[in-house]
Amino acid sequence: MNIIEKRKQAIKCLYASMALISLSIATFKLELVMILCAVTGVMFFLIYLHLSFKYWKCPACGEQFPVIYSRMDQRVECWYCLEPLIKD
Ligand SMILES: [Zn+2]
Repeated sequence: MNIIEKRKQAIKCLYASMALISLSIATFKLELVMILCAVTGVMFFLIYLHLSFKYWKCPACGEQFPVIYSRMDQRVECWYCLEPLIKD
């Protein structure tokens, strides 16, 4: 799996965590549901951070890309050394 796919997975985890955390805020009256949503949401967020820090960097020069979703996510080559990120 290449790093672009890993990054897409990470972004999906980020969206899932945001959805779950909003759901936990919306269901604050249902204590158990709220806790479950909050805990899973935080777990997804941690997976996102883990995937981003571990894989979201240039395989050629090793520079870390911005962990926060940014224009970097639309690029196919490294910002720093211009090495293509997808290799077949
Ligand atoms: Zn690079």
